Amino acid sequence: MGASRARDAFHVMSKPTGAICNLDCDYCFFLSKEALYPDSHFRMPPDVHETYIQQLLAAHPDREEVVVAFQGGEPTMMGLDFFRRTLELEARFARPGQRILNTIQTNATLLDDEWGEFLAEHDFLVGVSIDGPAELHDVYRSDKGGKPTFARVMHGLDLLARHGVEWNALTTINAANGDHGLRVYRFLRDELGASFIQLIPIVERVSEELLPIAERGWGGRNADRPLYEQRGSLTTSRSVSGQQYGRFLIEVFEEWARHDVGDVFVQMFDTALGHWLGMKQAGMCVHAETCGRALALEHNGDVFSCDHYVESEYLLGNIASGSTILNLLESPAQQQFGVAKRESLPQYCVECDVRFACNGGCPKDRFLSTPTGEPGLHYLCDGYQAFFRHVDEPMRIMADSLRNNGDADVVKAWYREADSTRSRNEPCPCDSGRKWKACHGGRGRP
Ligand code: SF4
Ligand code: SF4
Repeated sequence: MGASRARDAFHVMSKPTGAICNLDCDYCFFLSKEALYPDSHFRMPPDVHETYIQQLLAAHPDREEVVVAFQGGEPTMMGLDFFRRTLELEARFARPGQRILNTIQTNATLLDDEWGEFLAEHDFLVGVSIDGPAELHDVYRSDKGGKPTFARVMHGLDLLARHGVEWNALTTINAANGDHGLRVYRFLRDELGASFIQLIPIVERVSEELLPIAERGWGGRNADRPLYEQRGSLTTSRSVSGQQYGRFLIEVFEEWARHDVGDVFVQMFDTALGHWLGMKQAGMCVHAETCGRALALEHNGDVFSCDHYVESEYLLGNIASGSTILNLLESPAQQQFGVAKRESLPQYCVECDVRFACNGGCPKDRFLSTPTGEPGLHYLCDGYQAFFRHVDEPMRIMADSLRNNGDADVVKAWYREADSTRSRNEPCPCDSGRKWKACHGGRGRP
């Protein structure tokens, strides 16, 4: 298969340490995937490393950008030499004119000056996991001894700033920070200076039988932890609820649309705007019509359908055993995985007024039933409906402006006009239940 077939964008998330991490965050069900490889040392061997880089670059056309993504587990546990070798392999296998962007998702707690210099010199884009200020971040993000990690993450962020490394925030929305959207967003924007933010809902799906054990967390501190698989119709108490998720997004949107359009990039809002502009595959895969273009690569060369489906049933093949990334991406199993997202939508979603923006959400979380009893409704549906309906008018304003070669930030003037007649004591239009002056109308801590 030629490289031209790969012009439909695709993405590989590689996990050079598999599920191994130096931290033990309670909600991180990926930690339990260690059990998939009982005899492994969890370090990507040199031959798999070489095959991965060679195949990934070969799968992209000349003169295009290739994203080389490292995730985990905690990829910095591989040590700097692994990443130095990555650069050598990229130089060896790059096709003519290819631009390579290296990205790494990290908890930032192992970074030091040597890392900072390296990441800056080679223009890595660094995603840092942080869930808000200390009292919210530390609820679930702890180390192997159960100790809080916020101070160490802040140290890592200071180091990145000192070396001028480009970074973005990956913030999970969970039961602890789920009622504090505005506070979390202002913290990321004002105290960390984040200008690119990903918001990821925590949905830990479990069966009734596994729930009591799962409640103790998925890391090594829970000696009885089960292997996480996408089964069951209950969720742990750490999971965000649909209502919470919708409120969180609305609180953040109301702040962003008033002040930050054009300056701060929030992935969820950019994706939604793409849908209001009529794009079918805009941005985040969870709201795309079909999926299947984001493979996960384990440390031993195993390729899975998606980072969220690292389960034996979704193992497509192994790049160290004769398969290629491109063949696996185009395999019938993976094609079917991708279109099943659209084809399995319940009728309730098919008829939903915001389906063009939602597309039923990620299949992994479709474990509720619709009001008529049809299975396959997304766990966060009420939050999705609340958010997408709430943002309809400002999204239309931004989309209309962009269609007419204007800027999306015209929406700020629309908010200014609406706010000009608001009294300080009236309820905030974000429906938080707070007064305007104590919510979006004030700049203090909500
Ligand atoms: S299964 Fe979910 S997370 Fe994976 S590619 Fe599809 S929508 Fe995205
Ligand atoms: S908002 Fe709910 S009903 Fe509408 S498409 Fe999304 S999941 Fe389906």
